Amino acid sequence: MERSSTRIEKEKAGSLSYFGKETFMGSIIIKNGVVLTMDKKRAVIPDGVVEIEKDRITYVGSDFGKATSGISTTMIDAKGKVVMPGLINGHTHLCMTFARTVCFEVNLMDWINKIQYPLMDEMGEEDYYLAAMVGCINNLKNGTTTIEDFICSSHKGGVDADRPTARAVKEIGVRSVLARSYADQNYYENAIEKKEMIAARCREFVQEFHNTENGRLKVRIGPVVPWACSGEMFQETVRLSEKLGIGLHMHANEGPNWDVLVEKFHGVPRNIGLYRKYSCLGPGTTIAAMRVISDQDIMDLAETGTGLILDPAAALNRGTGLPPIPKVLAAGIRVGLGTNTVGEDMFENIKAAGWIARTVDGSPEALPLNVALEMATIRNAEILGIGDQVGSLEVGKKADVIVVNLNKFHYSPCLNVLSGVGLFGPGRDVEEVIIDGRLIVKQGRVVDLDEDAIIQDANARALFCAKKAHLENRLSPLYSAKLNG
Ligand SMILES: [Zn+2]
Repeated sequence: MERSSTRIEKEKAGSLSYFGKETFMGSIIIKNGVVLTMDKKRAVIPDGVVEIEKDRITYVGSDFGKATSGISTTMIDAKGKVVMPGLINGHTHLCMTFARTVCFEVNLMDWINKIQYPLMDEMGEEDYYLAAMVGCINNLKNGTTTIEDFICSSHKGGVDADRPTARAVKEIGVRSVLARSYADQNYYENAIEKKEMIAARCREFVQEFHNTENGRLKVRIGPVVPWACSGEMFQETVRLSEKLGIGLHMHANEGPNWDVLVEKFHGVPRNIGLYRKYSCLGPGTTIAAMRVISDQDIMDLAETGTGLILDPAAALNRGTGLPPIPKVLAAGIRVGLGTNTVGEDMFENIKAAGWIARTVDGSPEALPLNVALEMATIRNAEILGIGDQVGSLEVGKKADVIVVNLNKFHYSPCLNVLSGVGLFGPGRDVEEVIIDGRLIVKQGRVVDLDEDAIIQDANARALFCAKKAHLENRLSPLYSAKLNG
């Protein structure tokens, strides 16, 4: 069989293929930085100190003497830098990383059905693992410490992205909500599963991964798109969610034709109306990537307390509608942000949320900067049901912290730190990333990880799969990988 020769294939499954042997644990003190706490008072502390012991924050303030750790192994000097809670990406698809640069200039469903799924048809378990690794590292290096990943892979040959994705997020140590999607009708052939199979696989996935890894890993489930699930599957979805005690995650109204498709296949005039009909809405549900939102949709989401994850950068990229952000916020809907595969930089989404809000509203005050930042931190955490654990820097919370370097021309002179981060902040200025008290990114590089090997392997394997999927005329690869080595 024609194979590419990558390091990953030479390693035994389950081993830490790209990691060395260094341990990351230890107490950490971050000093001299401007601390954006995102706590209830939204306190900003100049020359602040954040102390971390094991997986928890033990001090946040301005008095270095009160940081009590006598066994600190790591001291981070954050002079000229911002110390803030790790960002939370409320919606993406790590399994789609391989084809993300291929032919973006087509409509969404063509991109899904003619590019993404055909390429995923050719991916093996190790490829899905590698795709998730690349996507995770990209998120990490842009300051994201929690990812809600909507897994929607092909099932050709009995292979899918469920376990490889879980393996990648476990190994890297990123906090994750893995939402397993499914379809039992009207969808890409190799992505359709039988109802009984869906229920069994969801149960297994929940039992194996939900609330594991020191509570860092959680699981949700949900139909991939509304017309791809039968009414019976919607009923089963709610039964499973209640029985397993897990939340739901679903796409809705990602384009102007979604309500039409829902009416065609379900006889219900609105996407959100369909979800309400089957009792899928509620505080434990996150609805992702809505761009077309009617007044009736707003009422349904507000009345049911459903979480809404908007994807401003992806929405601008696709051109399929701009969500009325000020209106949904004014209605009291809980709103967060996600990347939806585009860029994996939550700072871009903080900025893009402001651009869209001001464009649809016509007012410079349409989205205050601190609210946009909240939508990528504490509000997102609350929507995912982990607001008591992460999303702000407070004593007793889990230590998910990032350090952003503002000593750059694109911030200077920085007379307002909030504007610096919220208006100009690119993710690549993130230097340190700490998750669960582990220093995972140090000076912009993932600690003790062979980053170059991952990039090389991902390029080789993605090219191999794309050629097998007959996408040659869509490619202009950066590397000409030797495929028979
Ligand atoms: Zn999506």
